[in-house]
Amino acid sequence: MNIILLGPPGSGKGTQAEMLVQNYRFQQLSTGDLFRKNILEKTALGLEASKLINSGNLVPDEITNKMVEQYLLENKFDNLIFDGYPRTINQAEVLNQILDQKNLKIDKVIFFKLNQDLLMERLTGRLVCPLCKRSYHIKNRKPKIEMICDFDSGPLVVRPDDHPDQIAIRLKAYEVETAPLVDYYNNQNKLVSINCEGKNAEELFLNLTTALELS
Ligand code: ADP
Repeated sequence: MNIILLGPPGSGKGTQAEMLVQNYRFQQLSTGDLFRKNILEKTALGLEASKLINSGNLVPDEITNKMVEQYLLENKFDNLIFDGYPRTINQAEVLNQILDQKNLKIDKVIFFKLNQDLLMERLTGRLVCPLCKRSYHIKNRKPKIEMICDFDSGPLVVRPDDHPDQIAIRLKAYEVETAPLVDYYNNQNKLVSINCEGKNAEELFLNLTTALELS
């Protein structure tokens, strides 16, 4: 089963994808992580994308689509989670074409529903481990030792695009570019909404596995 996790930045897609990978036979494709890896390794793609990402803007469709196509060519998969992709109607259409060529399809799109006001608070408190990509929150999901990853003992960092000005740009980009995908996938009868408000990661995971008919 191939699925898309759709929702605003800060809605918890990355954390839920992590939990699916740990508990079921899923692989995760996070375009955000792929971009950050390229930035870290100073590849041509990373250099091209870094200014846009650090300022909170989306990377142009053409670049993002090419990166995803490359990944899908190089990797074998049968249970893939698309996390942070597609983020525009153009990306959704290109993804469809790529999967079509491989005789694959998207089975379900999970929409993470959450009040916009909560997002700023969640994102301003977010800490991430650059090594294993796990994310934490200074109030809601604290690491066992302050600023240290529970899993690999590496130091946690604040992402450069997790500062208030950049977050505001990302939320706007979500509203304008990504939110139309909710209707797009609803019209294809692929959308399942889960309400994220007032739920911790474990509670949300229960809703998610039910929505995916995994438990
Ligand atoms: P979040 O969901 O918390 O915003 P991500 O790690 O998914 O974070 O993405 C970080 C940044 O990477 C985005 O703000 C954007 O600049 C870039 N990015 C990731 N995925 C895409 C995409 N599908 N299209 C365009 N830009 C993307």
